[in-house]
Amino acid sequence: MEFDTITAISTPSGEGAIAIVRISGDAAVTIADNIFKGKTPLAKAETHTIHYGHLIEPSTSEIIEEVMVSVLRAPRTFTKEDIIEINCHGGIVSVNRVLDLVLSQGARLAEPGEFTKRAFLNGRIDLSQAEGVIDLIRAKTDRAMNVALKQVEGRLSSQVRRLRQKLLETVAHVEVNIDYPEYDAETVTLELLKEKGEEVRQEIEQLLMTAKQGKILREGLATAIIGRPNVGKSSLMNSLVHENKAIVTDIPGTTRDVLEEYVNVRGVPLRLIDTAGIRETEDIVEKIGVERSRKALADAELILFVLNAAEELSKEDEALFEAIQDMNAVVVLNKTDLEITIDTDRVSSLAGERPVIGTSLLREEGIDELEQAIAHLFFDEGVEGADLSYVSNARHIALLKQAKGAIEEALEGADMMLPVDMVQIDITRAWELLGEVIGDNVHESLIDQLFSQFCLGK
Ligand code: GDP
Ligand code: ZN
Repeated sequence: MEFDTITAISTPSGEGAIAIVRISGDAAVTIADNIFKGKTPLAKAETHTIHYGHLIEPSTSEIIEEVMVSVLRAPRTFTKEDIIEINCHGGIVSVNRVLDLVLSQGARLAEPGEFTKRAFLNGRIDLSQAEGVIDLIRAKTDRAMNVALKQVEGRLSSQVRRLRQKLLETVAHVEVNIDYPEYDAETVTLELLKEKGEEVRQEIEQLLMTAKQGKILREGLATAIIGRPNVGKSSLMNSLVHENKAIVTDIPGTTRDVLEEYVNVRGVPLRLIDTAGIRETEDIVEKIGVERSRKALADAELILFVLNAAEELSKEDEALFEAIQDMNAVVVLNKTDLEITIDTDRVSSLAGERPVIGTSLLREEGIDELEQAIAHLFFDEGVEGADLSYVSNARHIALLKQAKGAIEEALEGADMMLPVDMVQIDITRAWELLGEVIGDNVHESLIDQLFSQFCLGK
């Protein structure tokens, strides 16, 4: 494939210590060489080497910047094209001067995601890997980042490829059997289809089972802190935010709901919803009777219900238990540093299966146990021990579900002793659907839409 040479600032916007201007394409080295003055001309530089020198304005010979330039020659690069990376000072003015200089030499400003798109189009990565790059940019916790990284490395791709291979082999067998009808009866063929089909069905099911956890890691868990006034909601919020600063990625062009705050609890990103409301509103109990606040609660995937251990259980507390029936919740018995007067047996029975954790937020006690409980609620072995290859992308989930459906139809057909070639149609459809996960036979519009989600310089 032939492409023009593109460039962009590939470090996040803002004032970092250094910034990188990346150039990719056939003319990358020539362009950089035109504006670079150092010991060795870049055209003669070996691949994967770094060079110290200055950028100069070729028409005036004016020195623009002191830089380090990396020369990365095709094909062992991210885009499979020649890549130049110019490391310069991080100020907005100097970075933009470098970018302007590169543009003046004939490079084109890259669209968002265009570097990754090239990597995909040049066959360096497949679609699920490219989507992993998007997740990587957006990841809010290390754990989410690791999952995305696994996807970029191609863990999901290789799983999907293996399943496709299995389906392909099955279909190939079927064809052999059709060609030699005297050797293998139709029933034998159907038995084989059933056996292999069932294997693949189960594997897809397992992949889909990871989807829920993957979604949590990707999007964060909508979490509401509730409780009567003065029980310690704000204190809990503060200690969670204080101890677990979430990674905040600045994605230009996306607006973030200002009412949300992310915290990272043992790798589980909690999206504290309506935190402004929780912070300001001390009359949340009055509101809880109102239908509206019930609805807000209904959106939550996790409730942190704070009770005051040093007071008796009140009518309002009981009403709140009522309001969060059947919801994922951790009951926080706060103020354990004071004399405990709450009826703990009653609390346990109202909590049911849900964990009850004693804390003294004042003395910073019990917070570890609380975090442990939250992590265990969503990841059986805790997040640390959990397998990292989650399916977390909505598009992948939809395709896997459809593929599973197609295989189930094939299995039904085999049970009903339908003609083999009819069953085979469903198997082939499953094979095609799985192909879409990794980007075989996808529509161009989908590709454009996917890559437009990237930020500039990726
Ligand atoms: P909110 O109204 O539920 O948000 O409660 P706050 O977090 O604002 O806390 C109300 C009061 O309880 C504040 O004076 C806190 O210092 C105090 N408080 C919070 N946690 C504890 C605790 O564990 N022990 C004691 N003794 N006081 C606490
Ligand atoms: Zn408060």
